[in-house]
Amino acid sequence: MMSDSIIHILPEFLANQIAAGEVVQRPESVVKELVENAIDAGAAHVTVVVRQAGKAMIHVIDDGSGMSRDDLDVALKRHATSKIRTQQDLERIVTLGFRGEALASISSVAHVEIRTKREDDPHGWVLESEPLRDIVIRPERQERGTQVLVRNLFFNIPARRKFLRSDVTEFRHISDTMLRFALSYPDRRFTFHDGDSLIFDVRPQTLNERIGELFGENVLRSIVSVELETEHMHVYGFVGKPNIARTTRAQQFLFLNHRAIANKSISHAVMQGFEHLLEKTQFPMYVLNIELDPTKIDVNVHPQKTEVKFDNERLVYDIVHEAVMKALRANNLIPEVRFRLDEAQDPFERLRLGPSANGPSDVVFVNTQTGEIIERTQPPSSSFARSDAPMLSRERTSPAWSADHRTAFEALFYSAEEVRARQSDQAEVMPQTEVAAAHVWQLHNKYIFVQSADGLIVVDQHIAHERILYEKARSALNEGMPYSQKLLFPVPVTMSPVDRITFDELAHDLRDLGFEFDVFDQEVRVVGVPLDVRTGEESSALLEIIEQFNEYRHVRAAESRDNLAASFACRASIKAGDPLSAPEMRKLVEDLFKTSVPEVCPHGRPVLIRFDLKEFDRRFGRTS
Ligand code: ADP
Ligand code: MG
Repeated sequence: MMSDSIIHILPEFLANQIAAGEVVQRPESVVKELVENAIDAGAAHVTVVVRQAGKAMIHVIDDGSGMSRDDLDVALKRHATSKIRTQQDLERIVTLGFRGEALASISSVAHVEIRTKREDDPHGWVLESEPLRDIVIRPERQERGTQVLVRNLFFNIPARRKFLRSDVTEFRHISDTMLRFALSYPDRRFTFHDGDSLIFDVRPQTLNERIGELFGENVLRSIVSVELETEHMHVYGFVGKPNIARTTRAQQFLFLNHRAIANKSISHAVMQGFEHLLEKTQFPMYVLNIELDPTKIDVNVHPQKTEVKFDNERLVYDIVHEAVMKALRANNLIPEVRFRLDEAQDPFERLRLGPSANGPSDVVFVNTQTGEIIERTQPPSSSFARSDAPMLSRERTSPAWSADHRTAFEALFYSAEEVRARQSDQAEVMPQTEVAAAHVWQLHNKYIFVQSADGLIVVDQHIAHERILYEKARSALNEGMPYSQKLLFPVPVTMSPVDRITFDELAHDLRDLGFEFDVFDQEVRVVGVPLDVRTGEESSALLEIIEQFNEYRHVRAAESRDNLAASFACRASIKAGDPLSAPEMRKLVEDLFKTSVPEVCPHGRPVLIRFDLKEFDRRFGRTS
């Protein structure tokens, strides 16, 4: 008799592919799941090799427990796990994995090969798997541990494969994940290769040492230790001082029982600690670990396991906040008494202690560059107050910081056509000849005063130079006309692995820009630089461009070359505070008027301001 049912149970393979949609979204997810398995297996050393950003191949090798033949038989099945058995186990997860779906999902969308051996077994095993085929298992000579080789990811789901981003982007996801593992397990060794090149190989060390090795000396010098243990939880790690804060959250790492998590509430708790030390547009760097009784949290919220629920989120918030405050206080970054922000006075910010404590006249000064407390009683002499106010002033009133920040960026780095289109109403360009013979004068090493035909022009030297260099860099990049100078002696550049990842990504464009290097596996030597890079700054210019590039990457989804041109312009340009000679000033103003649009900024950051002679006449009561 025919069944009268239209509902049927999906074949396992199809169920796995559906699950794969959630578990395996991109090559990075495969790397994450496989490394989690290696860590759960107790590996002391995990090696990861990817090719073509993992699209062609992902190979994860560990020296952990290994698997028996019987385990191998079921490892690729859905809901096959050695990590939990009972409901009680599910309520107290102590491993990174527990859902038993990673290997099942991965093997439904790729070719998988697993080699494994347990310590005491006489030999190991190799498993070969291909979607919709029976697995094959053979004995094989093997070291203790497990290797998983994943090839041709999504070969059988063309839509998925097409959906993947460029190799550069996919690789960056993988390297971010590897960075998170390296930071959450500093006591284990991680070796990470992109094809034949080594990205990092970090040996067991302290968290402090690992941060130094991955992010470099500069970051290491600017972090303070966080440590707070209560009855309920343990918070430890490091926060960066204000001087290494970023415009993005890219350097914020949060781990719960060694699992990288994303949690707005806890991030906010950390940010609150920096309340008066950072602008709203800045994000502190941190690497924080929270250890908490696993029965008090639920990680089974989402297949990717980065979301967690806390039994008592408020308490976690308070303890994290307190831990950060304590660390900042101990390093003299914030005063003992909570302070209230008075009107800002850069670079020293004026802070008044709460009236209850020491009376309304007690004033604290904080160096906004370092966050350090300078002075507790006397105001700084008025001579240097405001002498070096940053370009982006604090008085901006725009409520949406990102929109505001974006505006400044775009204003400065729009292409000439875009700018012209935006300000067609005010595009009066000064004839070049006007400047040549003009008098020039520099105000406070910051503004250039130039006499013009009908009055006075005041130029912001930094922004002007930035605009000039941006246009030069764009044409160098787009027209393939680098303007380079060879160095007499090669300058070695020490890069942290994190910088090196970006460098490799940018190397080609950097060459177009005028940089020339010799690249070795572990070292980069600069042998030529664009003409505008000043002598002695070859190495720092390169590093700063890389850093700036990473910053802008998040601010504006700009085309990479555009971003590079902007980064170069920002970092190689003359700064406020740089003294300039008269010929230098003249050259700068001349170059400015040779750019396509000298008066760039329609949104409150003008490159120059004009004062009409008639205005002076009027003010002095001189009528003509
Ligand atoms: P889960 O990690 O959630 O248990 P997986 O599908 O990732 O599920 O893995 C299934 C099982 O295979 C694991 O529970 C574990 O027993 C075994 N396994 C996977 N990878 C390894 C490894 N690298 N070393 C030892 N055992 C492993
Ligand atoms: Mg797993």
